[in-house]
Amino acid sequence: MHGCDKFCSYCVVPYVRGPEVSRPAEKIITQIRKLVNAGAKQVTLLGQTVNSYKYESMGFADLLYEVSKIDGLEWIKFVTCYPRNFDQRIFRAMVDLPKVCKYLHIPAQSGSDRILRAMNRGYTCEQYMEIISQAREIVPDIAIASDFIVGFPGETDDDFQQSAKLIEQAQFKNSYIFKYSPRPGTRADEKLADDIPAEVKKQRNIDLLAVQEKVSEQINKTFIGSTVKVLVEGASKKSHLDNATEKETPQLIGRTSGDYIVVFDGPANLAGQFVDVNITKASALTLFGTITSRRDA
Ligand code: SF4
Repeated sequence: MHGCDKFCSYCVVPYVRGPEVSRPAEKIITQIRKLVNAGAKQVTLLGQTVNSYKYESMGFADLLYEVSKIDGLEWIKFVTCYPRNFDQRIFRAMVDLPKVCKYLHIPAQSGSDRILRAMNRGYTCEQYMEIISQAREIVPDIAIASDFIVGFPGETDDDFQQSAKLIEQAQFKNSYIFKYSPRPGTRADEKLADDIPAEVKKQRNIDLLAVQEKVSEQINKTFIGSTVKVLVEGASKKSHLDNATEKETPQLIGRTSGDYIVVFDGPANLAGQFVDVNITKASALTLFGTITSRRDA
């Protein structure tokens, strides 16, 4: 999908990319077939509001069923979902279709209804939590990630605390946290004073990250002792605490179907392959483990 017509008050996307347009399903499927023939094992369906995909009579859930039929494709991920008019059939597809990863990126942006209104997000915190509850009810092992903006114009300490509360309540696996900065041409820039001092934004960013890290660490620790299927991305650019000891088995990085980051030692030629990794250690951002087997798809 291209573009967006949600017009959140802080965002330039609808102005620079134009209205939401869904690409024809046949084109998407042909493109994925080509990628799979070239060796791709995973595709990510992209859209600013991918859950509102609509092409002729097809909704996003229908597209997932169609893409799932492609032989040789192993994992289907999709980002980003908009928390309004969420078609529950998408959750059913996540249960019905083994290729669809049980990972949902659904930005909340704030836990305060007052701020959500000023952002023109079109939902309340309660409505957002209803979607999260539905997702967990239908897909019990779903991994959910979110985005937050701190320091939006007029955000009080109390508004900010409500964002922290939402992270704890929703138990996000991770959240991307951004400090508000006005974008020229947006309604927030034209109508609202950027009145939260830079140091307050910075502190709220640190504090919200700390809340999320605590939740992430608790979730990640539940993986210790279990074996997860990982699609290997390649050598880890950052060196982690457990540095690889042998040259032949550098430190690799990959992701699970729930988009958890996993670091382990292994030969570099595993990039693009699936492996099973037994998790031995977990931090807020990363799972660490050892390969137990390769599982070429
Ligand atoms: Fe669209 Fe996302 Fe921008 Fe809102 S924040 S206008 S949903 S792209």
